[in-house]
Amino acid sequence: MLKGHCLCGAVQYETAAPPTLECVCHCTMCRRAAGAPMVGWFTVPRGTYRVVSGTPASYRSSPQAVRTFCGGCGTPLTFESTRFPDETDVTICSLDDPEQVPPRDHTRAATRLSWVKLADGLPVYPDTRT
Ligand SMILES: [Zn+2]
Ligand SMILES: [Zn+2]
Repeated sequence: MLKGHCLCGAVQYETAAPPTLECVCHCTMCRRAAGAPMVGWFTVPRGTYRVVSGTPASYRSSPQAVRTFCGGCGTPLTFESTRFPDETDVTICSLDDPEQVPPRDHTRAATRLSWVKLADGLPVYPDTRT
């Protein structure tokens, strides 16, 4: 069981499914949504992510995608796209313990910021992993 929460604590969630597709995303939309140079994500089957406290806010970040976040403190929480209808992506660093889900690669690195120097030895994919 993975558990997570936003910065202010109003939103708490859990997912019983084992994480997959653990990655660090360098795309411009994740960056802007988080105000950060890159964002760690893991994927669980749609429906296994469950909010247990609070009500996240949401918005459509592109025609096919919806992102949720805490309306009180702004912590980014999830990403869902109609392109992947069976999946929910969750931000690694909203977990109670992000050490539980280390990333396995860097994705969308074609738009990586020039001042981000990667030295973790993980695979770097220009676009998404195929
Ligand atoms: Zn919050
Ligand atoms: Zn991204």
